[in-house]
Amino acid sequence: MKYIGAHVSAAGGVFNAPKNAHDIGATAFALFTKNQRRWEAKPLDENTIRKFKAACKRYNINSNNILPHDSYLINLGHPEAEALQKSRAAFLDEMQRCEQLGLTLLNFHPGSHLKKATPEDCLKRIAESINIALQQTTSVSAVIENTAGQGTNLGYRFEQLATIIEQVEDKQRVGVCIDTCHTFASGYDLRGHQATEATFQAYSDIVGFEYLRAMHINDSKVPFASRVDRHAPLGAGEIGWECFEFIMKDRRFNHIPLVLETTDESLWPQEIKQLKLWAGCI
Ligand SMILES: [Zn+2]
Ligand SMILES: [Zn+2]
Repeated sequence: MKYIGAHVSAAGGVFNAPKNAHDIGATAFALFTKNQRRWEAKPLDENTIRKFKAACKRYNINSNNILPHDSYLINLGHPEAEALQKSRAAFLDEMQRCEQLGLTLLNFHPGSHLKKATPEDCLKRIAESINIALQQTTSVSAVIENTAGQGTNLGYRFEQLATIIEQVEDKQRVGVCIDTCHTFASGYDLRGHQATEATFQAYSDIVGFEYLRAMHINDSKVPFASRVDRHAPLGAGEIGWECFEFIMKDRRFNHIPLVLETTDESLWPQEIKQLKLWAGCI
């Protein structure tokens, strides 16, 4: 079974997200559990938590298919002690919010070395940050997203994801979210069936499908290997529909949230419908 959705709005409260997902035909969704551009957030109150859980139940969306995304400000590989501390504290808060909401995944971008540390040191620091957060929580997994490799962001090579995972103590609670746009922009081809097959074979060899917990399904506005992160609607970018058809027909992508972060929200119902058709969910 495929679970397909989009990163929906949680404006007015996280409890609005399940309905926003349901309204576009989604059976999975992503959301921010706080304002993603701020450090501080007021704690989730009992009423909000209760309403969120009730809405998920009402729209029949299981917590395994809900993929919260952390704040854009967090850098778990920050080369400076004070800023690293701030990021680690914010990340722990995000994980605890997930636990309060009964959610089992937290999606995040690994981190950036800011030209002040070697990539190896930065990857090590990211793994330490994950270990610290996992030690203080019990039920939520850290889901590392691969990046386009823009600026000094790490996690754009599958080897870098594998290096982080290697250094995480609790292998049961670490996983990966592969973003198709980032994969393509970072230099793994996804144009056509053969290229897509080869790219996921590389992923399988280097990281492994046992760690795949989620996918971001996006086309790319920018050319192959440009190391720039610009999403496009499916079929309207440089990747093209064939890659998405491949994913929907491949059982290795079953039972995880497959989430659109495409740029034209008005197209989400159509995009979801097309993906569901290929997946045999309609
Ligand atoms: Zn993404
Ligand atoms: Zn992106």
